[in-house]
Amino acid sequence: MLQDFNLLSNIDGEYDSCIVGTGPAGMTLALKLAASGEKVLLLEAGGLSYSDRSQELYDCESVGHDAWPKYTRLRYFGGTSNHWSGRCRPFEKSDFYDRSINGLPGWPIRYGEIEPYLPEAMTILDLDPDAGFKPINKPSLEDHFYPDAFAQSPPTRFQAKYIDQITASENIHCFFNATAVDIKLDQSHQAVTHIQVANYNGLSTPVKAGTFILCLGGLETPRFMLNCNKQIKSGIGNRTDMVGRCFMEHLNVPMGSFLYREPEAFTKLQFFTDDQFCQSSSIGKSNITMSIVSSVKSYGRTKAIKTFFKNLACQMQIEDKVQFISDFKCPGMGTIGTLIEQAPNLDSRVSLGDTTDSFGLLKAQLNWQIGAYDQNTIRQAALTMAKEFSNAGLGQIRLADFILNPEQEIKFGHHAHHMGTTRMSDDPKYGVVDRNSKVHGLDNLYIAGSSVFSTGGACNPTMPIIQLCLRLADHLKA
Ligand SMILES: Cc1cc2nc3c(=O)[nH]c(=O)nc-3n(C[C@H](O)[C@H](O)[C@H](O)COP(=O)(O)OP(=O)(O)OC[C@H]3O[C@@H](n4cnc5c(N)ncnc54)[C@H](O)[C@@H]3O)c2cc1C
Repeated sequence: MLQDFNLLSNIDGEYDSCIVGTGPAGMTLALKLAASGEKVLLLEAGGLSYSDRSQELYDCESVGHDAWPKYTRLRYFGGTSNHWSGRCRPFEKSDFYDRSINGLPGWPIRYGEIEPYLPEAMTILDLDPDAGFKPINKPSLEDHFYPDAFAQSPPTRFQAKYIDQITASENIHCFFNATAVDIKLDQSHQAVTHIQVANYNGLSTPVKAGTFILCLGGLETPRFMLNCNKQIKSGIGNRTDMVGRCFMEHLNVPMGSFLYREPEAFTKLQFFTDDQFCQSSSIGKSNITMSIVSSVKSYGRTKAIKTFFKNLACQMQIEDKVQFISDFKCPGMGTIGTLIEQAPNLDSRVSLGDTTDSFGLLKAQLNWQIGAYDQNTIRQAALTMAKEFSNAGLGQIRLADFILNPEQEIKFGHHAHHMGTTRMSDDPKYGVVDRNSKVHGLDNLYIAGSSVFSTGGACNPTMPIIQLCLRLADHLKA
C-alpha cells in the first residue's frame, strides 16, 4: 500500500518494523522483511518526484572540504538512486581484516558475513551475473597493482523498479511526504517506543513498531539522531559522542595525465592496489582508472559544463571552431581518475549547525577533513603507479605538482559516497552500531546504509549497502 501522508490525519497500524527512508537501503529491507511475512511501515520524507521544498531540507553547511552535501543526495521516493551512476564493485576480503587506523578499529565482522549476499544484491541492481567483476585489461604492473574491474548497473532506479510492488503489497504500508522528526524512548532509555512523523501541513503523529530501522543516508542519519535530543541532550545513540564522527568519502584526486606508448592497444586501463603494498606501506586502497580523453564519459557536473559550452557555441554560431579546439589532443593522451580509500578520522564529522529547517530541526554542518594517513595514501599510490606504468612499457605518466611537492596542498574531490558517520564497532567507544547494525545501548533501533561502514575500502558503496541490508534482514527474522 502506498499513501500520501499530506492527505491523512494519522498512521495507526500494528507493525513489526518501521523503516525510515526509501533509498536502496530502506527499500531492500522493506521488501525482504515483507517477503518473510512481517508487517512493515515504510516512511519517506519526500514525495514521488523531486521538489525544491523537500530538497531544501537537505540544506547543509560545509565548513571543511566541500563535499556538496545538498546536491549529492536526493530527498524523495527512491532516494539517491534516482540519480546514482550505477558503478558497482564488492569489498575485498582484506577490507575486513583486523586493523587499527588513526587509533580506530576496523570492521568487527569478516567479509564472509556479507559475501553470501552478493548474488542477490547483484540481482537487485540488475547486474549481469555472468559479467562478474572481470578485469577490463590484463597488463600487470610489477607487484603493487593488479588489473581491476567494476560492473555497471543500468543504473537501477529503485522507485521505477519497485513502486508497483510496494503499492500492491499487503505487508508494506508506505507513506510518502512523511518526515521522521523525533524518536521517543521508554522511561529507562533502553528502547524506542515510537517515532514522531510530520507532514508538510503541520500534522505530527507518533508511529509504533517492534523494531525501528533508520535508512536516511550517511549525512541525514547522524543529523536525525543528533536532533532527537529531548530526552538525552547529546542525541540518540550518542553516549560516547560518536554519532556523526568519522565521515569518510572516496577521494577523487586529479593526480596527473598520461600518454600511452601504443594508443591503439587500450582506451581504458584500470588498476587496484595490492594488499601487500597497502599493508607494508600503511596506506589505504586505491582504484586508478586511465582513460583516453575521447572515451571519457561526462555526467553530473562535467556534463553540465559540456552542455553549457555546447549551447554557448551554438548561440554564437562558432560550433565548428569549438569542436575543432575541443577535439584536439595528442594520440594516446588520457586522464587519470581515482577512487581512493579515506581512513576513519574523528575530526571529519557531521554535527548540528545553528539554523533550523521548516520542521524546527537543526540543519547539518559537515566538516570533511582528510589527514596525514590519507595524504600518504595519495602520494604513495601516485608515485608507485607512475613508476610501474613506465617500467611496464605502457607509456608515461605526468604527475601533478602537488603529488611531487609535499609542501603543496593536495587537490581532491568527492564521489558522493557518504560513509562512516554511525560506524560499526563491537566497542561503543569506537562506534555507534554493533556487529548486527543495532545501535549500542538500545534494544530495538537499527541503522542501515553506508553510515555503518567501519572503513570504506576503494569500492562503490551501494552494492555493499545492499549486501549488509540483506544480512540485517536475515538477522531480524532469526
Ligand atoms: C551523482 C551520484 C552518483 C552516484 N554514483 C554511484 C555509483 O556509481 N555507485 C555507487 O555505489 N554509489 C553511487 N552513488 C551513491 C549512492 O547513490 C548511495 O550509496 C545510495 O543511494 C545510498 O542509499 P541509501 O538508501 O543508504 O540512501 P539514500 O539513497 O540517500 O536514501 C535515503 C532516503 O531517506 C529519505 N529521508 C531522509 N530524511 C528522512 C526523514 N527524516 N524521514 C523520512 N525519510 C527521510 C530520503 O528522502 C531518501 O529517500 C552516487 C551518488 C550520487 C549523488
